[in-house]
Amino acid sequence: DARESMREIEFYQHGRDENHLRQLSIVADLKRAVDENQFVMHYQPKICMASGTVSSVEALVRWIHPIHGFMPPDEFIGLAEKSGNISMLSNWILQAVISQIALWRAAGVTVKSAVNLSAMDLQDDGLPNRIEGYLAKYGLVSTDLIIEVTESAMMRDADKALTILHRLRDSGFSVSIDDFGTGYSSLAKLRELPIDELKIDRSFIIDIKPDTTEALIVKAIIDLGHSMNMSITTEGIETREEWDLLNELGSNTIQGYYISRPLLADDFTAWWLEHQIN
Ligand code: C2E
Ligand code: CA
Ligand code: CA
Ligand code: CA
Repeated sequence: DARESMREIEFYQHGRDENHLRQLSIVADLKRAVDENQFVMHYQPKICMASGTVSSVEALVRWIHPIHGFMPPDEFIGLAEKSGNISMLSNWILQAVISQIALWRAAGVTVKSAVNLSAMDLQDDGLPNRIEGYLAKYGLVSTDLIIEVTESAMMRDADKALTILHRLRDSGFSVSIDDFGTGYSSLAKLRELPIDELKIDRSFIIDIKPDTTEALIVKAIIDLGHSMNMSITTEGIETREEWDLLNELGSNTIQGYYISRPLLADDFTAWWLEHQIN
């Protein structure tokens, strides 16, 4: 009845306000969180299918918020972008990851890391030099870092983004196109993109089985990437069956909970020592 639906509306409104307040407080806290190092990076290994060894890791940020506690990136990356705080956060992340690669190097763990950049980072002319500056500070070079950008980030103000990506690639960085298949880039466009690796989005892998439409689509993407000399990574591998299928379909590297969840740096070191066959 009417009273019932009024209550529902009030409840809904209340829920919306709370959510809105939470978002406002997250935005208000972002700058200080960077200054106070409230973020922590996790690293998820990627496995080369041919050799069975770790080819690299992907750095994934988490926020240990003093009040809200553990916060996954999906809760704050978008807000950092909208509020104009993303470049500050990305700079923090780049320095955290680069210094970690140097620490690993010193401990004999020779691994590259991929960093996720956002669309707005690709509008910043100063970015390539800044990254090279961070690397130099730790005695590292551009080939130690992989840049991951989403397909949609490349397409946002594509001219500027492409200029910056070309500069990064000319300087020796590997560039990886993330969430591939979820954006709108035409196949013709793909040929012009300065990319080394194509990451097939997890949404294609959920419930994938041999001889299904999903498997055919993934196979088509893999063949397309290979025809353009790109390496293919498939993310979201959760089972042995998915591993076997993606191996058969020709994926070069795989990443997912079946291999490992994202790990704290020290936990990755232990994992690496156990898994790397040298
Ligand atoms: P993404 O770049 O596509 O990262 C993959 C996400 O899938 C990660 O979630 C990872 O933990 C998760 N994942 C990996 N393997 C599996 C699996 O087998 N099963 C399932 N269910 N999930 C798996 P996470 O860490 O929560 O990150 C979510 C998104 O947030 C990322 O998607 C990326 O777009 C963004 N993000 C994460 N870290 C950063 C960062 O440092 N900077 C920027 N700009 N964005 C970031
Ligand atoms: Ca990614
Ligand atoms: Ca993805
Ligand atoms: Ca699955």
